[in-house]
Amino acid sequence: MTYQFSDRVPESDEDPVGNILKVAGSPDVISFAGGLPAPELFPVAELKRVTDEVYDESGRQALQYSTAIGYPQLREQIVKRMAHQGVKTTIDNIMISTGSQQSIDLTAKMFVNPGDTVIVEKPTYLCALDVFRSYGAHIVGVDMDENGMKIDQLEKAVAENPNTKFIYTIPNFQNPTGRTMSADRRERMIEIADNYDIMIVEDDPYGAIRFAGDDIEPIKFYDDHERVIYLSTFSKILAPGLRLGWIVAEKSLIKKFTLMKQSADVHSDNLTQHIVAKFMSEYDIDDHIDKIKQVYRKRERVMMNAIEAFFPKNVHYSHPEGGLFIWVEVPGDVDTKALFDTCIKHNVAFVPGEPFYPDAVTPGTFRLNYSNMSEDHIKTGIKRLGDAIKETISE
Ligand code: PMP
Repeated sequence: MTYQFSDRVPESDEDPVGNILKVAGSPDVISFAGGLPAPELFPVAELKRVTDEVYDESGRQALQYSTAIGYPQLREQIVKRMAHQGVKTTIDNIMISTGSQQSIDLTAKMFVNPGDTVIVEKPTYLCALDVFRSYGAHIVGVDMDENGMKIDQLEKAVAENPNTKFIYTIPNFQNPTGRTMSADRRERMIEIADNYDIMIVEDDPYGAIRFAGDDIEPIKFYDDHERVIYLSTFSKILAPGLRLGWIVAEKSLIKKFTLMKQSADVHSDNLTQHIVAKFMSEYDIDDHIDKIKQVYRKRERVMMNAIEAFFPKNVHYSHPEGGLFIWVEVPGDVDTKALFDTCIKHNVAFVPGEPFYPDAVTPGTFRLNYSNMSEDHIKTGIKRLGDAIKETISE
């Protein structure tokens, strides 16, 4: 049989990141490659308790088919969370998704025709790049610095690509760089989007995990013309296996999203929506998030101190104030994949920069994760990584 795939299916079966994670998963390797939250922080006992309550009080309703837009009580809870971040909204502006990955997919499905331009940060979340590619988007990357997307370059990219559908941005503790967009750039981004009448997709899975510095309002906060589609998720503040996220957007857009979602998966798991709504009504999720922040802050500090102690002085790295990642830039023309192989010999791993770039790759870049690792392992792993970098640079 010759399978006649659609244009959406990648030609190659290669899964470079999957391969990296497989190598990194060997028991002797200390892996900073994944992006997993710390499982010891999942509120297992609390979720078990509220699950029992859901079964006892509304088991038949929770196990029944439901609506694509999502369980109203959960959407009510999300309205409160959004208000906490300075975004006034209503349950009619919110749709529950099966994680932000689905939200990104539905957004692209809804707006991107083959050849349409999507503007992204360079580097950016690789699974978003996969989605945009699958819909045939023309992806344009804009460089970043410590304060997020370079706004002059963004304006140029928008001006040069009149078929731009949206700007995709991860403004807080970005994946992969850990960088945060400054407030003035958020305002400038809105101004540019207003001037050129384009949309912004604000993907914010990490914003709640700020462990240093001051909160910055979401881009959605500055949005007077309903052009921002805001995405977030329970993956990093509760548990990713729940597969629950949400979309905040203008009401008529939510109606369209609901139709798209119906065709994709009818609705997100109804039982899980009941459980999370109950969890949020009985427990203070901010107390839970505080625990996550404390642990991640300590791990980030340990990693940063180890980097300062063991990396050559000319290596650059980001200084995240939250989230899960640090981005490293080794100077010169270092092939990060070769560096990865050297690291594996030293029993330590990271994700090389390449898959995060929509086009030309900046050599010598890689991502480190600190959320899912004991402090001792972080120290040992970073020492090994420092040795591997010194070996590579001096060769
Ligand atoms: N967006 C970004 C920037 C991410 O890093 C991730 C996953 N880590 C997602 C979306 C998808 O998250 P979810 O588990 O909610 O699908």
